[in-house]
Amino acid sequence: LLRPDGSVASTIFAEMTALAARTGAINLGQGFPDEDGPAEVLDAAREAIAIGANQYAPGPGVLELRQAVAEHQARFYGLTVDPDREIVVTTGATEALAAALLALVDGPDDEVVVFEPYYDSYAACVALAGATLRTVPLRWPDFQPDLDELAAVVNDRTRVILVNDPHNPTGAVFGREVLQEIIRLAHRHDAVIVTDEVYEHLSFDAPHVPIATLPGGWERTLSISSGGKTFRTTGWKVGWISGPAELVTAALTVKQFLTYTSGSAFQPAIAVGLRLPDEFFHGIADDMRRKRDILGAGLEAAGLAVSRPRGSYFTVADVAALMPADGDDAADAETFCRDLPERAGIVAIPVTAFVTPPHRPHYATLVRFAACKRVEVLREAASRLASLR
Ligand code: PMP
Ligand code: GLN
Repeated sequence: LLRPDGSVASTIFAEMTALAARTGAINLGQGFPDEDGPAEVLDAAREAIAIGANQYAPGPGVLELRQAVAEHQARFYGLTVDPDREIVVTTGATEALAAALLALVDGPDDEVVVFEPYYDSYAACVALAGATLRTVPLRWPDFQPDLDELAAVVNDRTRVILVNDPHNPTGAVFGREVLQEIIRLAHRHDAVIVTDEVYEHLSFDAPHVPIATLPGGWERTLSISSGGKTFRTTGWKVGWISGPAELVTAALTVKQFLTYTSGSAFQPAIAVGLRLPDEFFHGIADDMRRKRDILGAGLEAAGLAVSRPRGSYFTVADVAALMPADGDDAADAETFCRDLPERAGIVAIPVTAFVTPPHRPHYATLVRFAACKRVEVLREAASRLASLR
């Protein structure tokens, strides 16, 4: 992360949001909503502060939230999870991922298998643990892994298979046969599955299927989620890990020396959110599906090929049609995104920001657009893109 000149590489999200702020462009780069979440949840945080929930929370998290996570897992997924031994609250999914990886892998002989493109912290955490990153590409336009390629990468050095479903940045939702193959490989090679399901309630075509609910899944899976996406509170950074007690304890052991605890007033508020009626959860999926459709139609009207996401905040488009046909800048989405604020007043992220160098050519013309913005913002962005043709 430290560059040879001593400067620190910043995350692509910080860079893109700064670019949007500097240029006044519409920010379809960083994935955060531009509207607040449910009033019950916001009110609960105010209330918690008012009644004095302002000192350290317990190390594993506020009991009320751990209980609410367990109830949520039972209600939506039929899982029975012990709030005392099988759930730990974290500082967002980001800390959960770091704690899980630092707990499970140690040194270059330990391999972590990751699907790429991947959420940026995955490779960084593997590097922090000093482990070896092995990747399996997800290819345009459906972004499902090739199971033979997956089986060829997982081996006896694989300690962790890291899954993200629904998937950022592609919007893919892994099919059941993919999840089953991951479980089979994890058993065969004695690996642990770490699954990042922060978009669990933003699955558009069918209810989300956690890998921990499939046969053989639970006993070797650490499942990670967060309140940020579901309750539009990305700044609160309340996440959690669930799984077998032994694995969760390992992650807690690391977590206590990362932040110890955080968010004592936000934790009970997220518990209120997790207990909202089913209609709330269906409503956010409906809302995001509609936004996906509006953004997708706008991108298509601007002449772009669009992969139809089945979940998450994001849509990937092939911007080749809007790029110069020749010259040095031909077929390079990074240059396209760098120029886009000036050309069209929009910020978006090249998918190459989420891949390893050997796989860059495959993603060279792909751009991730965030759909988690107000409808009028998406429409305005689409009309600006159309004006580029
Ligand atoms: N995983 C994925 C796939 C994400 O998109 C994000 C972005 N929010 C995170 C983890 C981080 O979640 P949190 O903000 O809860 O740390
Ligand atoms: N998850 C969000 C995204 O993918 C942003 C996360 C971040 O800023 N680190 O855009």
